[in-house]
Amino acid sequence: METSIQIKPPRRRIPKWLHFDLPTSGAYLRTRSLLNDLALHTVCESAKCPNQWECWSSGTATFMIGGDRCTRACGFCAVDTSKPLPLESDEPERVAEAAKRLGLNHVVITGVARDDLKDGGALHFRRSIEAVRRAVPEAVVEVLVPDFNGNRQSIHLVAEVLPEVFNHNLETVRRLTPTVRHRATYDRSLEVLRYVAEKFPDRIHVKSGMMLGLGETRDEVIKAMGDLREAGCGILTLGQYLQPGLQHLPIVEYIHPDRFDELGDLARAMGFAHVFSGPMVRSSYHAADLKLNKALKGGA
Ligand code: SF4
Repeated sequence: METSIQIKPPRRRIPKWLHFDLPTSGAYLRTRSLLNDLALHTVCESAKCPNQWECWSSGTATFMIGGDRCTRACGFCAVDTSKPLPLESDEPERVAEAAKRLGLNHVVITGVARDDLKDGGALHFRRSIEAVRRAVPEAVVEVLVPDFNGNRQSIHLVAEVLPEVFNHNLETVRRLTPTVRHRATYDRSLEVLRYVAEKFPDRIHVKSGMMLGLGETRDEVIKAMGDLREAGCGILTLGQYLQPGLQHLPIVEYIHPDRFDELGDLARAMGFAHVFSGPMVRSSYHAADLKLNKALKGGA
């Protein structure tokens, strides 16, 4: 009788710079219960963000509007892909209420891709920005939007109400985009950013971000940063990609913190005004630390 020996592939060790302590603050539970009370989704939970304990414990979260079902199935993302439900017309007011009760001075609103809707959910974003403005007029509003399939009317609909920060993630370098975001294109994302930068110069801060560790080269990252600058992007986030589940793209490399520092310095030298670069950085990580030019507040 033959004995079969199953050889498991070696598990990649998680480097020590990605080990972190979980705070035990009751603030985490308060944030969770407030979000539950208002029946709100967050990208923190839906995308299995590794910073959830830290952010929620400090009383901040990133709201995810348009439901928790995405019409796309990007290879890196943990958000559920299935047929979305109709938009909830009172969701913008609930987001605003949460922002007020949490006492946020920087409100980040993102949303799933709603390719099933003609405007891609742009009007819902706009209504959410307006509701937050009414509820917490002093707060900085940051939106992290999908590409709206490049629909300029949709992009305009959101940008026209002048969120202080308009964020759309490039996510990865040109070569890897078809693998990482098969329903998006590198150039279309650049065009989304360029449109806002050109139409609302000096009125909106344009932001983007990339995940590293998917197999990109240093030169490709530098090229992508140059493309973002050329499109008018002034705020950049660079973070380590972490595989949220076995069905998602594998981690090709753990990028050393020194490399993040080096790329961050390069980005500043290229003209980015604000750079967040580090293994745990996500699009909205420490977003409230942004020292924005207050002259831009409310588009004034
Ligand atoms: S980094 Fe952003 S998405 Fe992650 S937990 Fe913090 S606020 Fe949420």
